[in-house]
Amino acid sequence: MNTRNYQFTVSDILVDVVQKDIGNMHLAVYPPTGRVRVSSPLTYSKENIRLFVVSKLTWIKKHIRAMKNQVREPRREFIQGESHWVEGKRYLLNIIEKDEKPCVHIRNKQYLDLQIRPGTERDKREEIIQEWYRERLKRKIPELIAKWENRLKVEISDWGIKLMKTKWGSCTVENKRIWINLELAKKEYELLDYVVLHEMAHLIERTHNDRFKAVLDNHMPSWKGKRELLNEVVY
Ligand SMILES: [Zn+2]
Repeated sequence: MNTRNYQFTVSDILVDVVQKDIGNMHLAVYPPTGRVRVSSPLTYSKENIRLFVVSKLTWIKKHIRAMKNQVREPRREFIQGESHWVEGKRYLLNIIEKDEKPCVHIRNKQYLDLQIRPGTERDKREEIIQEWYRERLKRKIPELIAKWENRLKVEISDWGIKLMKTKWGSCTVENKRIWINLELAKKEYELLDYVVLHEMAHLIERTHNDRFKAVLDNHMPSWKGKRELLNEVVY
């Protein structure tokens, strides 16, 4: 597909531009840093796009401010007593050292037991938990895909889970593949549901235009609240 990627600066704000074969201009501010990105049809000139961004500056600044004010998730050390989130609930990490195959369990609705070999370092601990998150998501996503395939009357050919910094999911319309952010394992099931619906709705409509929103309104009337909870602001 024909695409052009470049950046420009508007009043000290760096803007990522992607011009591709789409029908509408799309502006988004992404957490956690407030990265600004414009997707534009190929037919628009750089000057058109700059003027569009200038016209939205108040909106952009408001959202960047909101994101910067948000409490950033602290870096986890994966030590005893630390808080970790699983499906929208907080658990206290309990480290068990044992010379056996590592494993993770939720215990008493309160603890996340992480069993590791003695001397396992932070990065390896993180890897074990992430693998556990991945397995949990892997078990949940197929039923959601089946549900939305049925309701939206679309079919996807493949899906996957990966760690993404700036978005909760993505959809490659050309080969009908969706990607789900591993971080969603920490969020409520209904938010995972929304992201799966959102990505699959792109098989009906590529961009976030009115037609796309109508699909969401129709199938999940509360989608805007869920999007708020996920903290993605899409214009
Ligand atoms: Zn989207």
